[in-house]
Amino acid sequence: MQLVIVESPTKIKSLSKYLGAGYDVQASMGHIVDLPKSKMGVEIKKIGNKSFEFVPEYGVVKGKSDQVKRLKTAAKRADSIILATDPDREGEAIAYHVGNLLGEGKKVSRITFHSITKEAILEALEHPGKLDMAMVDAQQARRVLDRLVGYELSPVLWRKVRRGLSAGRVQSVAVRLIVEREGEIEAFKPVEYWEIRVEVVKQTGKKEGLWLELMKVFGKKASVGNAKTAAMYVEDLKSAEYKVSLVEKKERKAYAKPPFKTSTLQQAAANVMGWTSKKTMTVAQSLYEQGNITYHRTDSLNLAPSAVELIRKFIGSEFGAEYVPAEPNVYKTSTKVVAQEAHEAIRPTDMNMGTNSFVGSGEMGRDQEKLYGLIWRRTISCQMKPAVFDSVRVDVSAEGEKVYTLVARGETMKFDGWRKLYRSQVSGDRDQEQILPEMNKDEELDFKDIKSEQKFTLPPPRYNDASLIKELEKRGIGRPSTYASIVATIIARRYVDRKERKFYPTSVGKAVVEFLVKNFPVEMEYEFTAKMEEDLDDIARGKQSWQAMLSDFYGPFSKQLDQVKDKSERVGVEAEKTGKKCPECGQGDVVIREGKYGKFLSCSRFPECKYTGKLIEYVEGVVCEKCGGKIMVKKTRTGREFFGCENYPKCDWASWKRPVVPGQEESNKEAGDESRGEDESGE
Ligand SMILES: [Zn+2]
Ligand SMILES: [Zn+2]
Repeated sequence: MQLVIVESPTKIKSLSKYLGAGYDVQASMGHIVDLPKSKMGVEIKKIGNKSFEFVPEYGVVKGKSDQVKRLKTAAKRADSIILATDPDREGEAIAYHVGNLLGEGKKVSRITFHSITKEAILEALEHPGKLDMAMVDAQQARRVLDRLVGYELSPVLWRKVRRGLSAGRVQSVAVRLIVEREGEIEAFKPVEYWEIRVEVVKQTGKKEGLWLELMKVFGKKASVGNAKTAAMYVEDLKSAEYKVSLVEKKERKAYAKPPFKTSTLQQAAANVMGWTSKKTMTVAQSLYEQGNITYHRTDSLNLAPSAVELIRKFIGSEFGAEYVPAEPNVYKTSTKVVAQEAHEAIRPTDMNMGTNSFVGSGEMGRDQEKLYGLIWRRTISCQMKPAVFDSVRVDVSAEGEKVYTLVARGETMKFDGWRKLYRSQVSGDRDQEQILPEMNKDEELDFKDIKSEQKFTLPPPRYNDASLIKELEKRGIGRPSTYASIVATIIARRYVDRKERKFYPTSVGKAVVEFLVKNFPVEMEYEFTAKMEEDLDDIARGKQSWQAMLSDFYGPFSKQLDQVKDKSERVGVEAEKTGKKCPECGQGDVVIREGKYGKFLSCSRFPECKYTGKLIEYVEGVVCEKCGGKIMVKKTRTGREFFGCENYPKCDWASWKRPVVPGQEESNKEAGDESRGEDESGE
């Protein structure tokens, strides 16, 4: 009998299908050995003057001792142990600890596969290997690093900002992005400009018309900054002479997007379905464990040649040979990606299982179908030919008192290519563009109509789930295994609010970032955090020692920490504004303060004005299911939060659970994902 260890019950079910008798498949249920929850759990030894050694204090995770007992019994019966956890650093670490716990006197081997299919598993069983200690070290390094920062920095925040706060290494930098964006928005001054558009018509034929946009005046970019200038141009343009000065025809190709990797899958699911990254990862995890998609934590854009062949066959038979490119489309994976972790992009494991034949299962069934459809379409389309457009640009000169250049662009699609798959979904500016009538150079045109519209420049947009992950990835902060937990953590810690899918920093978030940037300028640099991620990658490649990397970080960090403890100034948390005037003094603003018994309303002129009021907080985006009233956040006498209808006592609806905005429900989490230790920082 061979004992096979995986992470979750779903994986047991999937693997058991393909392994015959002679195999006993058991689940670790995530990490069974980990750092303690109650303390830092890292012993720091000083070596000489400058170096440190870090000894993690691992122990069996609380509540997992029964599981360990069960596994030990199974191990006793087994002749050998096969570690079959997920193919990445976290999976390698779980395998390492399970091996240590059960492996004494047994033959222990490690197998990895990137999809849970019969083919992949039998193949893996034929080539068992050893644990990759470099990957284990990279995981240990991240854990210890985050513990050091979390446990040593948080107490400083308690003293200098507010009690109960916790600091996270990568999370703080992510909050910084959001705080800085808010600063840009606050500092933004909208600039007025006017858009002037002229309709002209052909003098011959069907007298077709087209709309032109004013681009230049006397050959220079037109800047119309106020109503007066706009009116002057409009008057002049009404009686100007119009003549075509340039006709430019081009063919434009729009290429399909590359297959999904973790970051782009999360972005697409956020954009299309409005999902949080965490939800996307939970649903993807279930699809992977059921054997429907390849491993969903990946940076790779590579596709297995056998899959590409099937995709091309499918495209040919479904859409016709003209949709199949002569050679497969190849997408380059970023060179930074660690080779052994970069196996394949995220794709369906069975390319014959179309989005119509796939049926989800369990509570997550509907969501599985949505996400599978997204992945399936992206995988097929990435191997299709580009869409081809005939694009036309017409420049028209207008001579009045001044000389103007106006431009019209038009585009027609002559071959849909990969967009055939997205018939109803693809929309964008390009599609809305007008189709231009045939024009010739020097052709004269008649004026028909003119419109001028006042506009203002817009501030940069707030981040949402998709754009934040894009930014984190662009800056090299975070990895496929961490994007989701970064976003979830900064919301859970109330550094950031998500309102209508956009991120706003809270006053606590602003204060923490202000304090950290002032006192830990190096650690709070985006480049510094990116460099740490690269160092962790190097450790996973076996190119760097994890102890040396930690020591290099900890030396300067602990010195800085000591200084900050003594010398830094407190940073106050600004009271949140409500936008209302104080009802008592009429001068101050009503603000939200936090006291011993929770939040309350107060006057910004406190202590001069003593106004206080009860704070009523509503849950945004949901209404009472009984009467349609707003949902209030309330507290019991003992301080426990609950949710109730605003029409109490007329309506008695109440719940301990925060009601969720439709479409943003969190799915039930599979044991495997939840207990994977994605939140990497000190509690
Ligand atoms: Zn007042
Ligand atoms: Zn109600």
